[in-house]
Amino acid sequence: MSTADANMIFVATSDLAGLVRGKSFPASEWEKRCERGVGWTPTNVQITCFDTIADSPFGSLGDLALVPDSGTRFQLGQGAGALDVVLGDIQTLEGAPWEYCTRAIAKRALTELHDLFGASVVSAFEHEFQLKDVPVRAGDSFGLKGFRDGQVWAEALLAELARTSCKPDTFMKEYGPSQYEVTNKPAQDITAVDNAVILRILTDDVLRRHGVAASFSPILDPESVGNGVHIHFSFVGDDGEPLTHDASDPHGMSTLTRHFIGGVLEHLDQILALLAPSAISYLRLTPHRWSAAFNNLGYRDREASVRICPVSARDSDAIARQFNFEVRAVDAAASPYLAFAAIVFAGSHGIRHQIEPPAPTQEDLSLLSSDELAKRGFKRLPQSLEQALAALDGSKAVRDWFGSDFVDVYIAHKKGELQHLEGRDWTGKCNLYKEIY
Ligand code: GLU
Ligand code: MG
Repeated sequence: MSTADANMIFVATSDLAGLVRGKSFPASEWEKRCERGVGWTPTNVQITCFDTIADSPFGSLGDLALVPDSGTRFQLGQGAGALDVVLGDIQTLEGAPWEYCTRAIAKRALTELHDLFGASVVSAFEHEFQLKDVPVRAGDSFGLKGFRDGQVWAEALLAELARTSCKPDTFMKEYGPSQYEVTNKPAQDITAVDNAVILRILTDDVLRRHGVAASFSPILDPESVGNGVHIHFSFVGDDGEPLTHDASDPHGMSTLTRHFIGGVLEHLDQILALLAPSAISYLRLTPHRWSAAFNNLGYRDREASVRICPVSARDSDAIARQFNFEVRAVDAAASPYLAFAAIVFAGSHGIRHQIEPPAPTQEDLSLLSSDELAKRGFKRLPQSLEQALAALDGSKAVRDWFGSDFVDVYIAHKKGELQHLEGRDWTGKCNLYKEIY
């Protein structure tokens, strides 16, 4: 057997549970597999994060192919034990995108935005995670000691990220116990979303090789901080010129940006089950956790679902290029492709219907009465996965964007996940998710 025969390549999909699953094949079959893929099964889409199988309309029927996208191939580790991984698309046997393939859905959302408005998305995912089962030291928030604890694996992680399509941006010891944050530089179109998948895979892999374990779970302890995924957005035209900024707007937003954000905020309650999809996600989405509790746009306010971010550039061209906003309601129990697709579909809807966002806030909305909130166009976001699923279920808009069958299958998937949690308290639920994400 040649070395090429002995080496395996793993083709991966990020599924409805937000987990990476897939199959491998010998490296010698690369060309053939890039054309035909490996066999895949429709009902796999209903495997929950707990590995139970939720109600599936497919039963034991049907066949699909998980087909590598050759440009996404990257390596985990080096030397003995290294593994090549490639991201794939789930296709029908006739080669069409499968309507439940998360990556295909995200690409469709991007194509729609581009075809309708000539805009491409430039985005970056900011990830927070915590180390599992390590002693907690006080005084470590943003601390040098905590940073030094992680420096060896962090440098290895950034080096491995740099060998993929990810370009590492920053790394820091975050506020929470054993909490760290790692960010990629922005990338265009689907590559940015692929990079979120690659970053999670690599973080888990590199840290385990260094004897520590990471959890991206939305919240590890009901009483403590959450782990967010903040997605930064900006837009460029086909000529590469930035489309996000307009100096004449008091907050710097172009009309395209304003309407995109308007669409996202108007539908946020309906898409939340795709952005924050675990039972415990809703412990994180509460006021004063610097996550997202209302459908508000914040100007440099970290307690907003969508935040207009500050820019460090000084000249007008550089400001226009750097100007971006972030969606803060997302967590890592969501497939990056589904969360991203939901935001882009909602944003496109906002542009098409010229939806204006509510005026940017710079205040604590949890102090307002429900009457005052309603008067100013704000809604408290769903406060449980059950509530978020009910909003998704009733959303004609989301059914139009994702397809009604997809929405039904997704809801059945999540109900299967909830069933597994019955009878457990919140700490017990957090402990289960901690081991999975
Ligand atoms: N940990 C916060 C969250 O759950 C975010 C803190 C911050 O980086 O602003 O989203
Ligand atoms: Mg952070």
